[in-house]
Amino acid sequence: MRKLTVRDLDPAFIKGKRALVRVDFNVPLDEHAHVADDTRIRAAMPTLDLLLDRGARVVLLSHLGRPNGKPNPKYSLEPVARRLSQLMPKRKVSFVETTDTDEAEKATMELKEGQILLLENTRFLGGEETNDQRLSRALAQLGDFYVNDAFGAAHRAHASTEGVARYLQPAVAGLLMDKEIAYLHGALEKPQHPFVAVLGGSKISGKIDVIEALLPKVDAILVGGAMACTFYKAMGLETGTSLVEADRVDMARALLDKAGMKLILPHDCVVAPGIDAGAQKTTVGHEHIPADRAMLDIGPRTGESYGRAITTAKTVLWNGPMGVFETPAFAAGTRAIAEAMAKATGLGATTIVGGGDSAAAVEQFGLADKMSHVSTGGGASLEFLEGKTLPGLAALTDKK
Ligand code: ADP
Ligand code: MG
Repeated sequence: MRKLTVRDLDPAFIKGKRALVRVDFNVPLDEHAHVADDTRIRAAMPTLDLLLDRGARVVLLSHLGRPNGKPNPKYSLEPVARRLSQLMPKRKVSFVETTDTDEAEKATMELKEGQILLLENTRFLGGEETNDQRLSRALAQLGDFYVNDAFGAAHRAHASTEGVARYLQPAVAGLLMDKEIAYLHGALEKPQHPFVAVLGGSKISGKIDVIEALLPKVDAILVGGAMACTFYKAMGLETGTSLVEADRVDMARALLDKAGMKLILPHDCVVAPGIDAGAQKTTVGHEHIPADRAMLDIGPRTGESYGRAITTAKTVLWNGPMGVFETPAFAAGTRAIAEAMAKATGLGATTIVGGGDSAAAVEQFGLADKMSHVSTGGGASLEFLEGKTLPGLAALTDKK
C-alpha cells in the first residue's frame, strides 16, 4: 500500500495553496519553557522547505504533551513557534494562540505564499483524541490539502492525524513520514541478510508482539535489558532482585520454545545491589546472578559477541537499551551495541534505531549520524514492527 507523498504533488498545484501539515512537535520543554531538544522540529524541515519553496502557505498542527482536551499554558506550542522561527530565519513564522477553529481559519486566509502559521496544541481541543467528526471537518477547513509528517503520532487515530484526512484531499505523506516508513518497511519486507534484531529495555510485555512478528523474518534476536531476566526466570534461573515480570514468565517460556536458536540471551551480566550502587558492580555468568543483586547491564563478553553479530550483519534493527544506560556505570553494554551498529553502517549495512530511549542513548553517545536511520517515533515504530496498521498512514491517499 504505497501512499502519495508531497513529492508526487504537481508544483503548480501546490503554489498559493494552504498546506495543512500535521507535524510531531511534541518536544521536551525545560523549566524556562524553552525547547530542550529540537530533533523533531528539525526532522520536519525537509517537508516544510519543499512546500515553502513551491509557494505553499503552510499551516502547522501538532500536539504537545497530554493536556487532556483543555487549554493549559504549560503545554502551549508558543515556545515551539519561537524555536521554529530561529531554525528558519528566512521565513515568516507566526503563531495563533486560539482554540477556536473559525478564528484559526481566518488567520490561515491571511497567510501569504512562503509563510508559516503554527496553530495552538491540537490536544487543547476536546474532539482531538476522540477523533470527533465535527472537529475533523473544522480542521479540514484550515487547508486546501493535507500533509501528514507526524510519524510519531501515526499510531493514533485522532482528528488531526486521521479524521481530517477523510474531509481534506489529497492527503499525502510528508518526507519524514515517507522516510520512516521506507526504512521500517524495507527491513520487514526485503531485508538484506543476515538480518539481526537487538531488543532490550525494561519490559518484555510491550515487546512480545514485536518478538513474535520479527522471529520469522530475522536470523537472530539479541536480547538485553531487564527483558533478559524474564527469560532467565522462564529457564528456572536465579534472577536476584532484577526487574522480572512475573506475569509474563509463561509467555517467555513459550517464546523460548518457539524461537529455538534464534533468540540469544546474554551469557554474562553486570550486577549490583541497585542503580545507585555502581561502585559495587561485578560481572557474573548468567547462571550465577546472586540473590541480593540485580542485573543492570549485559556483560562485556556479551557486548563483544553481540557486536560481532552486528558488524557481520547486513540489516540491524535495534529497539531498547541493553542496560540502565542513564547511569554511566551501566551504559557499557548499550554503548557496545551503538558502536557496533555505527561500524556496521560503515561496512554497508542498513542500521535502524527505533524506540525513544534507544534513540536518546545513540544521541547521548554522539553516534546518531552514524546510523542509517534513527526513528523519531518510539510507539509508532513499535506498532509498525508488530505488523499493525498505523491509522495516520492508512488514512492518506493511495498512490495510483
Ligand atoms: P525504548 O524507549 O528504546 O523502546 P524502553 O522504554 O523499552 O526502550 O526501555 C528503556 C528503559 O529500560 C531505560 O530507562 C533503561 O534504564 C531500562 N533498562 C534497561 N535495562 C534495564 C535493566 N537491566 N534493569 C532495569 N531497567 C533497565
Ligand atoms: Mg521508552
